Amino acid sequence: MSRTFSPSSMLQQLPEQFFAKLAGTAAALKQEGHDVINLGQGNPDLPTPEHVVQSLQEAAENPLYHKYSPFTGWPFLKEAVAAYYKREHGVTLDPETEVAVLSGAKTGLVEISQCLLNPDDRALLPDPGYPDYLSGTSMAGADVTFMPLKQENQFLPDFGQLDSSVLDEAKLMFLNYPNNPTAAVANSRFFEETVSLAERHGICVCHDFAYGTIGYDEKPVSFMETPGAKDIGVEMFTMSKAFNMAGWRVGFAVGNASVIKHLNLLQDHLYVSLFGAVQHAAADALNGPQDSVRELTDTYKKRRDLLISGLRDAGWEVPAPAGSFFAWLPVPDGWTSEAFADKLLHEAHVVTAPGSGFGPSGEGFLRVGLVQPEERIQEAVERISKLDVFQQ
Ligand code: PLP
Repeated sequence: MSRTFSPSSMLQQLPEQFFAKLAGTAAALKQEGHDVINLGQGNPDLPTPEHVVQSLQEAAENPLYHKYSPFTGWPFLKEAVAAYYKREHGVTLDPETEVAVLSGAKTGLVEISQCLLNPDDRALLPDPGYPDYLSGTSMAGADVTFMPLKQENQFLPDFGQLDSSVLDEAKLMFLNYPNNPTAAVANSRFFEETVSLAERHGICVCHDFAYGTIGYDEKPVSFMETPGAKDIGVEMFTMSKAFNMAGWRVGFAVGNASVIKHLNLLQDHLYVSLFGAVQHAAADALNGPQDSVRELTDTYKKRRDLLISGLRDAGWEVPAPAGSFFAWLPVPDGWTSEAFADKLLHEAHVVTAPGSGFGPSGEGFLRVGLVQPEERIQEAVERISKLDVFQQ
């Protein structure tokens, strides 16, 4: 008889995987034969640029890459990351000591808690926020203080609201701009305040720059552009969103040399870096023409405009997102996030993510992903417009 083995207490304390549940609901409705429009997830819908795919095809034939890659990644990839940051953000990085290759930013965002936190240490997390920050802090057994992101503060945390004892205790802070799920962007002044706070309280800042290329009005600011940022923190960047390479699993941590060293040490014990041909193609993407990146942002902008103007025409007062490929929509009066997401799901067959799934301060909002073609977004808007709540 097959035995059932009990999971470790570390596994038992993991939070529920919110996105997995969401994917299940959409799949179940499809199975029932409904034409479901899934705007609930953050999976880029468009293909990787052709020149990057070609680079992988060629590199796959190189026997050098059939061997184990160097443990911390090929030097040419780390050099490409440093060159990219120099060109795009004017930031100087030492490729060997200030760049770590990650199997996607998600990995690094979870690993950094294992690297820096002991049980009962404190971490500061944005609320609402990308759920994997909590996955990492839970695995480390750390305590967490949430920093509410409120509309009246442009969805930036109000550091003045944090107790000084909490700040003194905190070892790690997660930030993420352009933000998932609120679609807000940060400015240089906010990042300067962050560096000054982190210096005063000895906090390591981990800035998640996953949507770093997707800003609609201005080019998003890298945290690394802030004077002193490298002294107190790191930034995680990914190929997933900028180059539609979510399935390739390529990301980077850049910045503070001690944190990069810790990440590399942990990874030495867990992985042998990425397939060399994937690293080769990722370097080509970073070093090559960036037209596809700009075109992609234009595509999301068109989708954003279609969604926002359509919903406003229907009578739903929604703000336009400033960055990322999400829209963060306040639910109509009298509804909770979950109840309104349920209504959209069952009456319009449109999947959205209830804001409360990203933390208590997400209550009252829905996250909508701009990861469907314009026709599907138009169709979603038409179905939503017909709902009784918009008929008065
Ligand atoms: N950070 C944020 C805010 C995200 O939304 C995502 C993906 O959805 C990631 C990180 C993960 O990126 P990657 O594909 O590099 O693991």
